[in-house]
Amino acid sequence: MRIALAKELSYDIVIVGAGPAGSSAAFSAAKTGARVALLEKEETVAQTVRTSGVTWMDSIKEFEIPEYCYNPVKNYGFCSPRNEVMISSNTPMAAVLDVRKTYRWLAEKAKKQDVELYTGTVVTEVTRTPYGMTLYTTSNKEEILFHAKIVIDASGFQSVVAKSLGLVTQWKRFGAGAEYEVEVENADPDTWWLMVGQDYSPAGYAWVFPMGGKIVRIGVGVGKPESTLDPTERLEQIMQKKLGPIAKLGKITQIEFHYGLIPNDGLSRKTVYDNLILVGDTAGQANPLVLEGIRYAIRFGRVAGEVAASAILKGDLSERSLKPYEENWKKAIQKKIESASRVQTRWIGLSDKEWDKELDIIKELNIDEFLDFIKADFSLASIIKMAVSHPKLAVRQLFNIVKGTTGKSS
Ligand SMILES: Cc1cc2nc3c(=O)[nH]c(=O)nc-3n(C[C@H](O)[C@H](O)[C@H](O)COP(=O)(O)OP(=O)(O)OC[C@H]3O[C@@H](n4cnc5c(N)ncnc54)[C@H](O)[C@@H]3O)c2cc1C
Repeated sequence: MRIALAKELSYDIVIVGAGPAGSSAAFSAAKTGARVALLEKEETVAQTVRTSGVTWMDSIKEFEIPEYCYNPVKNYGFCSPRNEVMISSNTPMAAVLDVRKTYRWLAEKAKKQDVELYTGTVVTEVTRTPYGMTLYTTSNKEEILFHAKIVIDASGFQSVVAKSLGLVTQWKRFGAGAEYEVEVENADPDTWWLMVGQDYSPAGYAWVFPMGGKIVRIGVGVGKPESTLDPTERLEQIMQKKLGPIAKLGKITQIEFHYGLIPNDGLSRKTVYDNLILVGDTAGQANPLVLEGIRYAIRFGRVAGEVAASAILKGDLSERSLKPYEENWKKAIQKKIESASRVQTRWIGLSDKEWDKELDIIKELNIDEFLDFIKADFSLASIIKMAVSHPKLAVRQLFNIVKGTTGKSS
């Protein structure tokens, strides 16, 4: 039985998904002068949390994210089965976002720019029309048709618009992550832990991220298809065994379970077409080393919205007119993501013993080098310096991988 067609609505730009990419795109598109609708399938923004929310203080400042949305971090622990590194900064350089508060703040910012947010609205199909696109949605058991001159697909891993138009297929390489938000007896709100080695994850890592107060997030991420391991099962196991830094937390009381998927196929997708932009996880814009994509989703969401609205104002909805968006994000991150992918390939194959040695290399890095490394913000000068003149061969080899040379002769 077909559901009733309730109404048809027309906008300049329709954005699918009120995650960080979609809300940011909506904000900047409306600010640039377009009439914008933002469609979200869940009943509220960030109803389901699918991410751990670690990001960096420079990005928080760039986006002016308010203090109530994050917990700053200044000690960065990294542990393998038989090794441990603790690197600290004088002031916090990283932060763990309260994902709900941050995503809702982003959506509110868009609403204040007169974006019309439709929650509980699931996009089921998208077709091209002579004027742009039509999106078929269901909302409260009714069908609503949205007509748009430009569509921005910010639906994340699912990439609902691009898939419906037959432009992409499901990501083949991706990360699967499971996480408990918990209350613990002994929290250290200034310190995070990344945990590597077979017991944590055979192709990935585990983490303890502090949320402030006595709340932390404990999680496990697994690379697919490299490993068939179920991250939820492994998470239960490491929590029961109180492995590594989990032992220090004392009594653990579960609050909420999170599960999510993140693409890890590199920058394999084309991201602009006539009347269409792909952004955020839909575009595969994530740092593959630690699979973090929130700051890229916000930054390139804003660029996507601005470029789309400018195209509307010019009356040119062609791929060529939307191309500056793709040029912008490629210039900013393509090389970094390629470098990070090479390091990730090395990391995915490491045994426990090799991880213990890898941590010895990480110990050689100072705080700025360590953070640049984890963020995949490899500045050319520091990479060349490490790859060429670091006294230890192992460090030179790692940074030659980052640089894209084999390092055998270094
Ligand atoms: C386990 C895990 C841990 C992670 N940890 C971190 C981290 O610590 N730091 C970091 O920076 N990144 C992290 N990431 C990655 C980060 O979550 C993503 O890069 C980021 O969320 C991408 O934002 P987005 O807006 O593109 O997509 P999403 O956040 O996925 O938003 C997409 C939105 O579209 C909506 N939607 C989907 N389909 C439809 C539809 N048919 N109709 C309408 N709406 C729809 C969804 O409900 C959702 O609200 C993690 C990912 C995972 C899986």
